[in-house]
Amino acid sequence: MTDVAARAEAGFRQAYAAPPAGRWAAPGRVNLIGEHTDYNDGFVLPFALPLRTVVAAAPRPTEDWTVWSELTGETVDFDADEVAAPGRVTGWAAYVAGVVWALREAGHPVPGARLAVASDVPLGAGLSSSAALEAAVLTALVDLGGLDLPATLQPRLAQRAENHYVGAPTGIMDQSAAIRCRAGHALFLDCRTEQVDHVPFDLDHDGLAILVIDSRAPHRHADGEYASRRATCEKAAHLLGVPALRDVPADALDDALARLPDDETRRRTRHVVTENQRVRDSVALLRAGEIRRIGPLLTASHASMRDDFAITVAEVDTAVDTALAAGALGARMTGGGFGGCVLALVEADRADAVGVAVAAAYAARGYATPTRFTALPAAGATRLA
Ligand code: ADP
Ligand code: MG
Repeated sequence: MTDVAARAEAGFRQAYAAPPAGRWAAPGRVNLIGEHTDYNDGFVLPFALPLRTVVAAAPRPTEDWTVWSELTGETVDFDADEVAAPGRVTGWAAYVAGVVWALREAGHPVPGARLAVASDVPLGAGLSSSAALEAAVLTALVDLGGLDLPATLQPRLAQRAENHYVGAPTGIMDQSAAIRCRAGHALFLDCRTEQVDHVPFDLDHDGLAILVIDSRAPHRHADGEYASRRATCEKAAHLLGVPALRDVPADALDDALARLPDDETRRRTRHVVTENQRVRDSVALLRAGEIRRIGPLLTASHASMRDDFAITVAEVDTAVDTALAAGALGARMTGGGFGGCVLALVEADRADAVGVAVAAAYAARGYATPTRFTALPAAGATRLA
């Protein structure tokens, strides 16, 4: 398949019989560590993938928008009325209409536009193709309209599009990663303050890679389980008299656990508190240039998700155990759980052997063949030359 930017451009020319004014790209992401910490006002550490969504676009004189995606090969039209309130544009184009809606809500004079979308980010695999699409569209519209919207404020706006227009309850991590990540760095994000810090994560320099394995396990009951984890965390914070579990420091964990009424609530709380600490410890190690030493933190994160937060499934546990046995320095499930992807920190020259070992373990158990790729930390949303 040809390059994603070329596909977006070709799609534009075919859909509109004219060249685009430019092309804008935004990446998918993986979360290195910090799972289910976002809605507890805690810390996450995503980095951008080299897999990107590209939007080719051109302005038009009226307040009308048309978007084509190679996903379906169809074009969808909407006008100012249809983005006056959520609900009128549905399906995949809602992510695009939602961005227009959120910009207009915030008082920005959004230019009418023709858009064409192509993507290398797998959909629904937990690599955040939704935020990549929002971020690529947002960056294009901000540029085309010369809108005054600094990058620091863009994640919140894209999140509003997804929460209120599309109707998907996501935190701020995905949009922050798609917009604000830097090449060679991970993004340390405080989900309470939205403060970000770019932490050096130069895998290539150290001869390392992150191997991402899509378990392709079906997401079983993921929505209901997510809601119930969230409710338990909120209940625990309430019982402990703090605004969120983020406010329980790791060294006060034993005290806090003693004040909670049941084993399940204690386990959920322990995951969140220890996971926040693992994010901070990982950041400290990366700042010290000790990338290999985050391996055990990744593996501990997985054990915590499996044993305390109870969000892993056999397929992801198999991938993690097999990767470690095959020489990975650390491995964990990444994303909300009940399926999705596993990441492993590996010596770059071992990536293939680790991937092959996981594929063999899946075959032996009769699981669907996993897909995999290696990733170095890439840049956030940008205009392409
Ligand atoms: P994830 O963000 O983990 O990939 P989501 O369910 O949040 O999964 O978002 C996936 C949805 O985003 C798709 O079902 C589709 O509606 C939309 N989407 C993402 N990328 C594209 C694209 N390139 N073209 C059209 N729609 C897309
Ligand atoms: Mg998403």
